Amino acid sequence: MSSDLRDLYQEMILDHGKRPRNFRALAKANRRAEGYNPLCGDRETVYLEVEGDRVVDAAFEGAGCAISTASASMMTEALKGKSRAEAETLFEKFRDLITGETKAAAGGPPLGKLEVFSGVREYPVRIKCATLPWHTMRSALHGDAAMISTEDGAEASPKDEPRPTTPPARVC
Ligand code: ZN
Repeated sequence: MSSDLRDLYQEMILDHGKRPRNFRALAKANRRAEGYNPLCGDRETVYLEVEGDRVVDAAFEGAGCAISTASASMMTEALKGKSRAEAETLFEKFRDLITGETKAAAGGPPLGKLEVFSGVREYPVRIKCATLPWHTMRSALHGDAAMISTEDGAEASPKDEPRPTTPPARVC
């Protein structure tokens, strides 16, 4: 990757980290899950409005570092209008992109702008920040447990903790 391109990618992540899109509770959501990454302290709630087989709207709120916020912002943009199967494929492609694995099946929707996260691979500690919203989205889509943690056995956040409503400009 040329350094110009890398700068552009970094800029896009910083932009979404600072001014996240779809950063709100979704009133019409019929799927919802919370994600927590104890290694960094990222907490995110992902909201999905699913109609039949299609994700018609997606949003999130919470507090996290620039990477997790940008990832959730761009993920919610990418999900709108996708079928469940397409959302699942995007999840797999994104995970492959970040981890350097090649488990995703060929075909399906392209990652497009989400490819800006390929640089995260060079920073292993950031991988969980970038994938947190995706794991949370998948859990919401499957209607699994409401709380997802990137660390097995980690303490879930207390339910009565006030949820921050604005994203901090913190970089973990
Ligand atoms: Zn983080």
